[in-house]
Amino acid sequence: MRMTKQEIIDAIPRALEEKQFVIYIQPQFNHSTKELIGGEALVRWIHPENGMQSPADFIPVFEETKKIPALDLYVFDKVCAFQRKCLDTQENCIPLSFNISREDLMLPDYIDSMEKIRAQYDIPVKYLRAEITESSAVDGSENIIRIVNRFHEIGYLVEMDDFGSGYSSLNVLKDLEVDIIKLDLKFFSGQVGGRGGTIISSIVNMAKWLNTPVIAEGVETREQADYMLSIGCEYIQGFYYSKPLPTEDFRRLWKERSSNSEFAHNRFIDRLDTGRFWSPESLETLIFSNYVGGAAIMLYDIKNGHAEILRVNNKYLKEIGMNQTEKDVISMNPWFHLDKDNIKIYKDTLKVAIDTEDEQECETWRTYISDCCGEDKICIRSSIQLIGIMENKHLFYIMVRNITKEKRIFNEIYASDQRFRAASEHSNIYAWEYNINTKEMRPCFRCMRDLNLPPLIKNYPEPLIEVGIFPSDYADFYRKLMKKIDDGVGEIEAVIPLTTGRVPFRIKYTTEFDAGGKPVKAYGSAILITDRDIVLTDPDVDP
Ligand code: C2E
Ligand code: CA
Ligand code: CA
Repeated sequence: MRMTKQEIIDAIPRALEEKQFVIYIQPQFNHSTKELIGGEALVRWIHPENGMQSPADFIPVFEETKKIPALDLYVFDKVCAFQRKCLDTQENCIPLSFNISREDLMLPDYIDSMEKIRAQYDIPVKYLRAEITESSAVDGSENIIRIVNRFHEIGYLVEMDDFGSGYSSLNVLKDLEVDIIKLDLKFFSGQVGGRGGTIISSIVNMAKWLNTPVIAEGVETREQADYMLSIGCEYIQGFYYSKPLPTEDFRRLWKERSSNSEFAHNRFIDRLDTGRFWSPESLETLIFSNYVGGAAIMLYDIKNGHAEILRVNNKYLKEIGMNQTEKDVISMNPWFHLDKDNIKIYKDTLKVAIDTEDEQECETWRTYISDCCGEDKICIRSSIQLIGIMENKHLFYIMVRNITKEKRIFNEIYASDQRFRAASEHSNIYAWEYNINTKEMRPCFRCMRDLNLPPLIKNYPEPLIEVGIFPSDYADFYRKLMKKIDDGVGEIEAVIPLTTGRVPFRIKYTTEFDAGGKPVKAYGSAILITDRDIVLTDPDVDP
């Protein structure tokens, strides 16, 4: 008989004292292999007069009256006792989950109390999994992070229960390193397909990227179980496989179907439906929105070179700027816009990213052809980070930047520099630029190469006099020449020997003036004089 709230409140002290509780265990299965992979302990209250009570009725009252820690510790004790029996009789056991209430976590010594019980029964921690609810994670975020860490230090796996019941779900995940996510189908109106289905598949895919296995709860039909498997969630708990069982029934079941299967991490998402893949809202709230700039998730098969873009964010579309929608990008072969050489550059980078597991960068050109604009080339810099391995495939997080403009400017400068170098090579001209205000001289490439000059010479011409490029008997002559330029002489010419070899050069300066007529810069050039009979300018005569 169902009890009223007041009846429950009144009955609690005696119930705890007389231990009127038992545990049931609901099995969890791998729907793909049909193996039993674990179970969840659920409390049942056998009231002496009113019979079995539903936890959905009395757990909230226990919580409200702060009696839940005592009950949960009792359940934990029963779980440990069950595992001890399995270990003693079968020398083996299967991991069991137990529920932890928000109120439990408010007690500073709750975990210590658990650990005492565990030590008493001597149960290896790997056979126990703590289920915490999403709501306790949402509220006391600081505290819960500490608690999850504490559980991890001891070695417990932590499950996030009732995932999807709240709206901040996705944000919770990035702060909390839970080991398993439990997704209750009842929060998604039980409907496969449609909006509920989209969100479920989004969560499953996202969990895969975070390398966190998902157990689907409340699975009542084969259709639901198959759907979950089809989107990559093979772990199932629910009436479809089994109701919660009395412990001895669970033990029998386990003896029949025992397995040692561990949770598979990062299996390949097969039958991935890109149209349904991840709802944009959840995507925005999770990974992508936490990174600045354009980003994509790509799956790559190194064996056959096949690649698939799974998701891109809005900034990615903007960065590429080719009027593409997310659907265009996802449905397109990622190599489509790249030529053979650029594909090679990209694939080589992916390989290094796999080998080093470190972020790698590359720049590739892509060609887009459209009816309206014809052909357009863009250059993309990609920062590539391996984030997961799914069977033979590698999952990458890729940040992109469109660097076409920078690249074009660079290429132009490079080309004009090339032309300039070629021209000066051919004409035997040395050229440099002299800044009248700062007395800085910038030599051309040939000057740097042949005279061993740095790219910038300060206090010109003194350093060149010092090293003997201007012979000492010509030093003053050259200083005076520069003084004239500083004073704004305009054009000036002289023939002087250079270096210790006293090779004759015709030196010429052209001055550039600002709007006010002030000399700003002078462009110098030197041509080697091959005619040996040439008369050098006399250093004693003013230039
Ligand atoms: P929960 O932790 O989400 O447990 C799963 C609940 O879903 C269980 O209800 C289970 O019997 C039920 N369930 C399992 N498969 C299906 C299915 O296919 N369809 C439907 N409709 N329901 C299914 P139960 O045992 O009544 O427990 C209700 C809730 O009470 C639990 O929800 C949990 O929040 C709480 N609870 C149970 N035992 C404990 C405990 O020892 N400690 C604490 N703190 N809470 C507990
Ligand atoms: Ca639970
Ligand atoms: Ca649950």
